[in-house]
Amino acid sequence: MWKTSAATRKNADLRARIGRALINAVFPEICHGCGRFMPERPIQTGSGRDPTVQADKRDFARRVLEPVLCPDCLADIPIVDSPICPCCGRPLKSRQDGDHMCGRCITEKRSFSKARSALVYDGAVLALIHSYKYNSRTCLAKPLGRLLYEEFIRHFDPEEIDAVMAVPLHARRMRQRGYNQALLMIRHWPEMAAELGHLQNWKIICHDRALCRKAHTRPQTGLDRKARKKNIQGAFDVSEPGFCKGRRLLLIDDVMTTGATIDECAKALYRAGAAGVSVITLARAL
Ligand SMILES: [Zn+2]
Ligand SMILES: [Zn+2]
Repeated sequence: MWKTSAATRKNADLRARIGRALINAVFPEICHGCGRFMPERPIQTGSGRDPTVQADKRDFARRVLEPVLCPDCLADIPIVDSPICPCCGRPLKSRQDGDHMCGRCITEKRSFSKARSALVYDGAVLALIHSYKYNSRTCLAKPLGRLLYEEFIRHFDPEEIDAVMAVPLHARRMRQRGYNQALLMIRHWPEMAAELGHLQNWKIICHDRALCRKAHTRPQTGLDRKARKKNIQGAFDVSEPGFCKGRRLLLIDDVMTTGATIDECAKALYRAGAAGVSVITLARAL
């Protein structure tokens, strides 16, 4: 009996190796960080490959991104870790003290209550997000969404969030890109919650129509802090105020730079009666 199953497994591994060799010959795998060819990796089988939420954050990120980044890019993957600002989640320049409020959160009022990010928007993460957002690499949505989900479980109590929503794109940009990169990343959350055994108390609604972008603004890239704020002012509106009223909402976006976009979304949601607005972004600019 053992011999048969071992032989079957060996044959399946061989078939998988040949299949992948053929696919690699025609469509070689490319690292989404540096663009170089990926080295050949051993085939992993079994269902226990998903790292646990309790794993070290850097180790976790490396394991999740292993299929899409080469070993060199993985070695330097910049993650957000303490000390951070407990309000906006920004990694603090001084690595000496513990978590404390950053200068911006002390001097400027934030519209959201708490923001957290998985990665620092630097190094291979820049190219990875660029590839996902502008080169239609939607296959990245699941691993990137897994990092977001881990950040959620690490910093939030699922019982304290009623609904999760993505920062919306304007209809014109949605037509150009064909997908909302933030929304795609949360699409697999219920599936992930089920896989990790979190579904028992899972009451979180993924809602993609409550918030809308009424103004087609120019991209924030290249604008300074003041210009970003002005550019995005009044760009969002709530299309379903009844949904937002009294709910504790979690906003998702790909990158947080100055926080101007998130602030505008949070203001609109609070105007519609939200009971709370928290934020998770995949990456955080320093
Ligand atoms: Zn690479
Ligand atoms: Zn802060």
